[in-house]
Amino acid sequence: MVQSVIHGNIVDIFSNSNKVAITDPVYPVYLDTNVMAGRSGRYNKEKRKYENIVYLPVTAENDFKPELPKEKVDLIYLCFPNNPTGTTLDKIELKKWIDYAKENKSIILYDAAYEAFITEKDIPHSIYEIEGAQNVAIEFKSYSKTAGFTGIRCGYVVIPKEVKGLDKNGNETSLNTLWNRRTCTKFNGVSYITQRAAEAIYTEEGKRQIEENIKYYLENAKIIKKGLEEIGYMVYGGINSPYIWLKIPKGITSWEFFDELLEKANVVGTPGSGFGLSGEGYFRLTAFNTRENTIEAIERMKKM
Ligand SMILES: *Cc1c(COP(=O)(O)O)cnc(C)c1O
Repeated sequence: MVQSVIHGNIVDIFSNSNKVAITDPVYPVYLDTNVMAGRSGRYNKEKRKYENIVYLPVTAENDFKPELPKEKVDLIYLCFPNNPTGTTLDKIELKKWIDYAKENKSIILYDAAYEAFITEKDIPHSIYEIEGAQNVAIEFKSYSKTAGFTGIRCGYVVIPKEVKGLDKNGNETSLNTLWNRRTCTKFNGVSYITQRAAEAIYTEEGKRQIEENIKYYLENAKIIKKGLEEIGYMVYGGINSPYIWLKIPKGITSWEFFDELLEKANVVGTPGSGFGLSGEGYFRLTAFNTRENTIEAIERMKKM
């Protein structure tokens, strides 16, 4: 099924009474679309959290592996390789989530947008590499990062026929059928031209070009990671991901670091706190630039 901005639209097929778990920090779309749908509950200003959202911290302290929720949740968003942290989960870690979902009748919404950036052998490219996933998980794939489709817009979602939701009487309902109905009523898919462009990704020439592009960005990531480590930063990600997640010096906030980097080095990145409370103290840099600019940016950071 050809579709774009799926991550946001998928919330349409779920009840507003469903409890949602997200990692923290997180790709903001998962949270914001649930807030807009009315599923998040009230915003608690003191705690700086929504009352009906279960936040699962992912920080250096837990090696960027989210802990299973202590309570029952209905929908779980997982994204690996992760945006913003650039970290991954192995098969054993993912299996824990499949088991949790089975036990609690939850649905895992697995975002594999950065799958093409995986370089290490044992990292799963799809959640369906893990036994039992086809009963509890749906998976998003996007051409945005794989093939530079952020402007053209195309992606797809895999909803196995085995994945069932429960209606209000507790009867099983096919999510595949619901999503098909939703798509054919509200959207009808991307344009033919866009579909032909997506098709070209799978030709020999297309595959070769994409591989070359991704290699280029991964080399940038390596340069950033190595450069920052030489300066003395703690750096995460950047191996199976275009993102580098760095721990900023103690005593300043992510936004203060942003200002300093902008003013002293004329380099921009994203403050970790923009991705959630647990992102405070971190900063995201991306490899999506030219080799020359990447090298220049690191040189300037070295002089900071
Ligand atoms: C960029 C990105 C996407 C892309 O979504 P599209 O709507 O297909 O452009 C999806 N998930 C994550 C985590 C991203 O960073």
